Amino acid sequence: MSNTAEFTVNLDAFAANLAAIRERVAPADHMLVVKDDAYAHGLAPIVERAWAEGVRWIGALDVATGMQVRQILGDEARIFAWMLQGPADVTDAVAARLDCGVGSIALLHEIAAGSAGERVAVHLKIDTGLHRNGVRPEAWADFVAQAREYELAERIRVVGIWSHIAEASDGEDDISRAVFDEAVAAARAAGLAPEKLHLAASAAAFARAEYRYDMVRIGAFAYGIRSTDGPSDDELGIRPIGTLRASVLPSDDAVPALDDDGVPPPVAVDLGWNGIPSLAAKHLTVQTSAGQRQVIRVTADVTLIEPWTPEPDEIVALLGGEALETATDLAERIGTIGEEPILRISPLIPRRYLP
Ligand SMILES: *Cc1c(COP(=O)(O)O)cnc(C)c1O
Repeated sequence: MSNTAEFTVNLDAFAANLAAIRERVAPADHMLVVKDDAYAHGLAPIVERAWAEGVRWIGALDVATGMQVRQILGDEARIFAWMLQGPADVTDAVAARLDCGVGSIALLHEIAAGSAGERVAVHLKIDTGLHRNGVRPEAWADFVAQAREYELAERIRVVGIWSHIAEASDGEDDISRAVFDEAVAAARAAGLAPEKLHLAASAAAFARAEYRYDMVRIGAFAYGIRSTDGPSDDELGIRPIGTLRASVLPSDDAVPALDDDGVPPPVAVDLGWNGIPSLAAKHLTVQTSAGQRQVIRVTADVTLIEPWTPEPDEIVALLGGEALETATDLAERIGTIGEEPILRISPLIPRRYLP
């Protein structure tokens, strides 16, 4: 267990990222995606600051998170949930007036049945190739016809049409976009009048204007987590808002003793397995008071760094916006995505918010 480690979140840096996003995607709206506790940065401070900065759409993923955001932000926020599982979720989503993502005809029926006299705001999801919870193109005509019937019966309002794309290759994404455009045309032909079309997440929203439509759903770049092997932070105009820090643990002597081979022992910082992935060992370099040093090993209690003579009460920034390297820098070396090292930071490590 760690005592002194902390994850500091710079909310001014977050606001600057939001401004960079707004400038890049305008006139499209930015829906801020906050799944997984705002990518481990802490839900409440993040959505409060986003609201103060003018963000009006929040992407919650699940209904429980959507309900929390409703509590935090009040009536005016538009909150999108797209993972509804079972009748209890539908009841809760309707009561909290969430915008519901609907990717199956079964869920469409459940929402219409559970609408309780409300016209539930729904966003119909076409499967454009990712095969992750969407209506297949061959079933789309029946789906939108059914949605139109429920609209006329005042059970639902079709606010949006949306999909999620792989953002893996431009060619595949272009095929997805063509499927999306056809689905929108078919929905309009069925009498629907969706006002919010949304397809892109961070990478496609930044790279390609034709993917922006009315709204983009951006999480990663808002927290300053750039894509692996993609454009740099400077090119994107964003920076990581979180920094993981830990204190150097006192060694018995001010000057570390040498071992039998005359090698000074590594320096331990107070951060165990709930801080950074063990794969960081030998792949992560940190700035210390004596210059750059490599992380050698992650143990259950402490993280070991190449030797130096620490200042009294020295604190080391291990990863993030104010550290030498970012989560995505590390991710690129260990074969993952920047979200992973951040999401691995245990909830037991306190979050501290600046300013
Ligand atoms: C997570 C998620 C996003 C946000 O993706 P980023 O790459 O973090 O911007 C957008 N849409 C859906 C459906 C998601 O699940």
